[in-house]
Amino acid sequence: MSKTRVLIIGGVAGGASCAARIRRLNEDCECVIFEMGSYVSFANCGLPYFIGDVIVEEDKLLVATPALFEKRFNIRVCTDTQVLSINRQQQYITVTDLKTDKQRQEHYDALVISTGSKSVWPEIEGLNLPGVHVLRTIPDSRKIRASLQHMKKVAVMGAGYLGLELAENLKKKQIDVTVIQTGKQIMNSLDREMAAYVQSHLQEHGIELQLECHVSQISLEKDQRLKLHFSSEHETQVYDAVMISVGVKPRAELAENAGLETGEYGGIRVNEYLQTSDPNIWAVGDVVEVKNVITDKWQLFPMAGPANKQGRLAATDIVRKKMQTLPAIAFRGIQGTTVCGLFGLTIATTGINETTLKQNPGIEYEKVYLHPNNHVGYYPGARPIHMKLLYDLRNGRILGAQAVGEDGVARRIDVIASFIQMEATVYDLEEAELCYAPQFGATKDPVNLAGMIAANQLRGDHPLAKWEELVETHTQVNESQDQVGQMLSLIMDDPFAKAQIVDVRTAAEYERKHIPGAINVPLDELRQRLNELSQEREIWVVCGVGQRAYNATRILQQHGFKVKNLSGGMQTYSLFE
Ligand SMILES: Cc1cc2nc3c(=O)[nH]c(=O)nc-3n(C[C@H](O)[C@H](O)[C@H](O)COP(=O)(O)OP(=O)(O)OC[C@H]3O[C@@H](n4cnc5c(N)ncnc54)[C@H](O)[C@@H]3O)c2cc1C
Repeated sequence: MSKTRVLIIGGVAGGASCAARIRRLNEDCECVIFEMGSYVSFANCGLPYFIGDVIVEEDKLLVATPALFEKRFNIRVCTDTQVLSINRQQQYITVTDLKTDKQRQEHYDALVISTGSKSVWPEIEGLNLPGVHVLRTIPDSRKIRASLQHMKKVAVMGAGYLGLELAENLKKKQIDVTVIQTGKQIMNSLDREMAAYVQSHLQEHGIELQLECHVSQISLEKDQRLKLHFSSEHETQVYDAVMISVGVKPRAELAENAGLETGEYGGIRVNEYLQTSDPNIWAVGDVVEVKNVITDKWQLFPMAGPANKQGRLAATDIVRKKMQTLPAIAFRGIQGTTVCGLFGLTIATTGINETTLKQNPGIEYEKVYLHPNNHVGYYPGARPIHMKLLYDLRNGRILGAQAVGEDGVARRIDVIASFIQMEATVYDLEEAELCYAPQFGATKDPVNLAGMIAANQLRGDHPLAKWEELVETHTQVNESQDQVGQMLSLIMDDPFAKAQIVDVRTAAEYERKHIPGAINVPLDELRQRLNELSQEREIWVVCGVGQRAYNATRILQQHGFKVKNLSGGMQTYSLFE
């Protein structure tokens, strides 16, 4: 009897992990990987650091080689071999050897598509000029490295994590970098006020940011430099090179041409076992659309973690359905966990952000801001972590979290990510037992604190006011955060304003900076000065980061005042100014 034949298209993150798992589960089947590039299983996530010489040897990027696959896993790898088409009826693929141009057909019993994604190219002229680069493969990185010596000034188009990692690594090579972004903020996984931290950090490290900036054309100067033409004001700028990093889209042409179901974002639609609309074909990684566990909506999430795990799950399902009895393991969907490091700052997210929540009006949410230290203040080197937690107002289910800081950020977001996967609530966060010693955290870890603030709010003993709320109660609803600061000043001067703003910091702190119109009643004087506070209006208490205001809220609540804490204090206010 001939062996079951599993063919895999694409030999990097999803494809390679799928192949290795297939072999671990079944020694008997035949497994072949087809990869149109010259490498399999390379670390594309490491490429920006190869540009910046953080990773110096190219070999380090090769996680596995065809020889290793052959020897260790008995898996044949055909590199430089492109799959041209899929014949679903007769279950074969047509491939071409890119070195010899010879075509052949390969029969399959099970087929896995892990063709990844391709760069989105902006619709502008000049993208084919020398000096315009994209970074996706090892050859791309070689090309960029080879021309680094001629680069003094570079434009990076696109301010997602990849564009920014590239910007950081170019800057490390003493190159002047301008990041150009069409949107109002960088890093769309963050809400805009959280992105503001990253923006100022990048600027402090010499990266020029041009937001809301549209490039209309790239042209070549006589000296071979590249001129960027901007849509506004007929402005132009000249650079030595331009990096394009404006996003990716699924490389799903093979699937589309074979008539497999694809979704609204152009990705292949799969079930929870990563099986496509054809029961003999599975698809994993950047090429598939995934269900978001919180919104239950389809989306793309082109990241390495899901690709690798999906490859593993597809392998399990293939062996289960084609070869032997195995327990079924379903893909749980994605929740959007990301991390990025830029000039010593860590930016991490999990779940959905407020921007997405606003697009899903079915979910009633609340949010808290907090700025705890990464570890106790008395141990040297404590650094703040700026956090935002979003949760379901109806039941406390955690919906998402964002954190920015120098140390301990990824750990906190990973903890919250695990809780989200367990469909846990803010009540679970407040009770989480996390490790503690002075150099690692605090007896109430930032994760606990986030849960405590949210749970206190839900229980009604710590009402929160939002900066936007301040605006919305007094003006026609205006979504633009640009205007929040401006509006705040107007509202504070308004004698009919609904809330009296009470700043409970010390007089010296208040003098340094305060919200226009806020009165100063330091926390330690509050009980003696209750008569200065409004009985009619709500009192919105503010301090540095929200902690003293929490104590003030508790005092005032117990004295019968209608009181709310302006979440995140002046630290958060600075984001809205
Ligand atoms: C520079 C860079 C940095 C990144 N950094 C991170 C990071 O820090 N964290 C993170 O989570 N993710 C990161 N990613 C994204 C991550 O690498 C991808 O999500 C992941 O590799 C997707 O895996 P995949 O198997 O779907 O596709 P890929 O790993 O891209 O593999 C697809 C392969 O299929 C091959 N292929 C396509 N079509 C055919 C065909 N017709 N025939 C044969 N072969 C074909 C391609 O040549 C490619 O090698 C980064 C990506 C890049 C490019």
